[in-house]
Amino acid sequence: MRRTLRRAIWIPAVLLYAAAFGASVAVRLAMPTEAEVTDVGRLMKAKVRKIVRINTTEDVARALEEARRRGLKVSVAGTNHSQGGQSFYEGAIVLDMKSYNKVLDLDVDRRVIRVQSGATWADVQEYANPHGLAVRTMQSSNVFSIGGSLSANVHGRDTREGPLIDSVESFRLMLADGSIRNVSRSENAELFPLVIGGFGLFGVILDADIRLTDNEVYRERTVHVDYRAFPDYVRTEILAKGDVALTLGRLSAAPDSLLSEMYVTRYEKTNVPVSAALARLAEERNVEVNRFVFGLSRKFDWGKSFFWDAQRSVYAKQNGMLLTRNNAMRPPIEFLEYRDAQKTDLLQEYFVPLDRFVPFVDGMREIVRSEELNLMNVTVRYVPQNEEAMLSYARQESLALVLLINSKRSARDVAKLEAATRRLVDLALEQGGSYYLTYQLFPTREQFAKAYPQAEAFFQWKRKWDPELRFMNEFYARYAP
Ligand SMILES: Cc1cc2nc3c(=O)[nH]c(=O)nc-3n(C[C@H](O)[C@H](O)[C@H](O)COP(=O)(O)OP(=O)(O)OC[C@H]3O[C@@H](n4cnc5c(N)ncnc54)[C@H](O)[C@@H]3O)c2cc1C
Repeated sequence: MRRTLRRAIWIPAVLLYAAAFGASVAVRLAMPTEAEVTDVGRLMKAKVRKIVRINTTEDVARALEEARRRGLKVSVAGTNHSQGGQSFYEGAIVLDMKSYNKVLDLDVDRRVIRVQSGATWADVQEYANPHGLAVRTMQSSNVFSIGGSLSANVHGRDTREGPLIDSVESFRLMLADGSIRNVSRSENAELFPLVIGGFGLFGVILDADIRLTDNEVYRERTVHVDYRAFPDYVRTEILAKGDVALTLGRLSAAPDSLLSEMYVTRYEKTNVPVSAALARLAEERNVEVNRFVFGLSRKFDWGKSFFWDAQRSVYAKQNGMLLTRNNAMRPPIEFLEYRDAQKTDLLQEYFVPLDRFVPFVDGMREIVRSEELNLMNVTVRYVPQNEEAMLSYARQESLALVLLINSKRSARDVAKLEAATRRLVDLALEQGGSYYLTYQLFPTREQFAKAYPQAEAFFQWKRKWDPELRFMNEFYARYAP
């Protein structure tokens, strides 16, 4: 009998999260007007002049006009899941895009959706699902805004797809002077690789035309892989076999098997038609129980081992399960909301060439131990080469390692984490790799320049398109010359 997706018990939900990415996150971050703002990392904050809730295109134009008149900076915010002040700046007017979230059009034949930038991937999935369509590239989870995703040029778990820029046909951008440009690879083409992956520094993305794909049915399989053989496994068992769509590797964060045991979950294409039962979009359940269980691994080594062992047995049970692409791409996340007054969960991501994966993992193990990092989860994804965005993290075919670290927020602990992060960045750079810009601003300017050799040109273009530096955030303040 065919097994379908079930989420009635806590362990699968926890594991689907881990499969997704592994992160603790305040999913709906309240953004008060005229107050202090932060993001889900809660390490940085800023006092902003005003928060404008955007409902219409005219609201954006009015806010920009006010900023010009009063000589204020403007920051743009989606769902605030970046973790280094990319969506705010001290004294700025912040445009809160979350209510600017309509789906404007779906061309089913061309499989292209036009959507306002405050909409989330969940909104897109709900709209596309009845038409048998699904998102091509997004993060592991669906809670992020389209504008925030374009501005980070996100990547996901589909080994056949590059970063998000690959699935974008065009978008409309409002510049600092209030004028609107259509941007594509053929119209205002200069802006295309700057805005995608450009962290809101060129203008406000109003809406975008994004390519979708079929809502295929997959069979989930999890296998044990020796991490030393993982690069070969990717080449021969995933890329060479055309039937694997989504893939996610997991490295152990348990003390006894730290970064040496590894599992890989793969979603293989089937010819099974999408029945009504399979097509139903899964909703998250057991949020509180899952939150409690996941919390144990923040506090205790035995909690981490328990989590890792539970993963192994649950994935064994799930082998062979059928599920649609849309359901594989909406794992539970709400239970990860974490509001500890003293601590926070932080994400980091490192990209290393396939053949440098093993030395990177070995070096990382040493850093995690010597720096006593409270590492909770590590996932691994394949990233094909894609240099279209100017601030591309995928300048070569890579494996991306995503680390979830729990840390105290005291100045002393943050300084310690900063030092450890710089060691990890150096390690990635030594292996010819890079790191992701959407998280903390710990890397030095020198490390940033090495990882992103196009940065100087990027900042020159910024000054050309926005000479008054109207669009501003803490990322620009930290790294621009
Ligand atoms: C739990 C978690 C899981 C994650 N998983 C992944 C993953 O699987 N893959 C991945 O690639 N990344 C992942 N990320 C990183 C995430 O994709 C990025 O931080 C993304 O930018 C978040 O989108 P957001 O809507 O929260 O954007 P925000 O944090 O609100 O903003 C991010 C940037 O986008 C800009 N921006 C937002 N809207 C607009 C707009 N309309 N016009 C112009 N600029 C705009 C902002 O100014 C800012 O610079 C994850 C992060 C977390 C916390």
